[in-house]
Amino acid sequence: MTKDPRPGADQHDVRHMLYPFANPSHLSRHPPLVIERGAGVYVYDGNGKRYLDGQGGLWNVNVGHGREEIKEAIRAQLDRISFYSIFGGTSNRPAIELADVLCRWTAQEGMARVFFSSGGSEANEAAYKLARQYWRQVGQPMRHKIISLKRAYHGVTLGALSANGITPYRAPFEPLLAGFIQVETPHVYRNPFTTDPQALGRLCAQLLEREIEFQGPDSVAAFVAEPVQGAGGVIVPPANFWPLVREVCDRHRVLLIADEVVTGFGRIGSEMGSRLWGVKPDMMVFAKGINSGYIPLGATMANARVCDAFVTTDEALFSSNAFLHGNTYAGHPLACVAAIANLEIIEKEKLHLNAGKVGAYLMERLQSIQDKHRYIGDVRGQGLMIGVELVADKKTRAPLDLSLNVGARISDACREAGVLLRNLADTFIISPPLTFTHANADEMVDAIDDAMSQLD
Ligand code: PMP
Repeated sequence: MTKDPRPGADQHDVRHMLYPFANPSHLSRHPPLVIERGAGVYVYDGNGKRYLDGQGGLWNVNVGHGREEIKEAIRAQLDRISFYSIFGGTSNRPAIELADVLCRWTAQEGMARVFFSSGGSEANEAAYKLARQYWRQVGQPMRHKIISLKRAYHGVTLGALSANGITPYRAPFEPLLAGFIQVETPHVYRNPFTTDPQALGRLCAQLLEREIEFQGPDSVAAFVAEPVQGAGGVIVPPANFWPLVREVCDRHRVLLIADEVVTGFGRIGSEMGSRLWGVKPDMMVFAKGINSGYIPLGATMANARVCDAFVTTDEALFSSNAFLHGNTYAGHPLACVAAIANLEIIEKEKLHLNAGKVGAYLMERLQSIQDKHRYIGDVRGQGLMIGVELVADKKTRAPLDLSLNVGARISDACREAGVLLRNLADTFIISPPLTFTHANADEMVDAIDDAMSQLD
């Protein structure tokens, strides 16, 4: 094999990979930072430079990097067996045990069973298929439509993408699946209706109800939403929104699906995002924090209402009443042991409480520098899921001209200073490991403060 003559090309091999959501020509000019190692809330590049992991991997490394308990669980499972399928009459011990653990974690929400897959998109896909098949089994096959929110992010596979409400991600793949509809999201900072959060929460729940009535309730299978919208820009709904949504769904017998891929397992300061809003969904969708990304894993959970439709004593119905869906890596033993060890850590160290505490402090510190910098329009979030939106004009909230790349310039300056943050257009996403300390929060805000001062 001939060696690439470009300096650093061996380290930044951008020629042979198509990176997600990235242009290959852009990356050859701005090579990605190659992370080699991680410990706790820090990661290191090939030169040994240390970075504070403000993005927590991709909002998934809830317990931090390099946790011995998880590595040990994976090693021990590798010594037993690395893979065995849970299809067609076989199963494996870690998947069975994790299903028990997850039902315990979600007992308050009433989840009865779990369906395993390999990530958030797959877990959403499974939820929508489960919802559609559920309605078939209970004799209402017309109920097939899935309603979601504008600015929602549910994944990239065609079903999950069809539920997304972020236009640039949808546009290249139109037409998307029929029967997916988006309604208004309760975005307090950016909406044309009202500045009163409670009024906005009520209005958006009413708009959902109007849409269900417009579509015809007998055609609607489910409504899906994130307890706090993530990739749409960290949008925290008013406290009355989810309870009102539950009422709307109940009135029209529509299933309520909570996409807890980011919010599940502590990130927003409660064990579950739905719990923060005091709502019991019919299905919950998990990935990311379920095992802090040590091995890919997704999980779709459903309550007895949904699961019982698949239960029958009539042998003639066994195959038609099976949930006709499944991926090879469903219930992968290595991913499942990693999840069991990960959830034990979250529980033992009460990381959801730490996320609430340190998250509130981090928000306060970010708000304290808001007045000083001309571009910080809004600081919003819940627990350790925080967004900082940059604007051209604070008074009018006029967005920045995206071609100026202000967000990217600030995240580059932070990186230089040893802090990793992700900018989605001009909103910074802050989602560090839930083990973050007050000192880590100070280190991060100081870096952002300096980067902003350079720009100002
Ligand atoms: N749902 C939500 C709320 C997400 O944030 C994401 C990914 N960021 C997904 C689903 C898709 O997960 P994955 O990338 O693992 O397919």
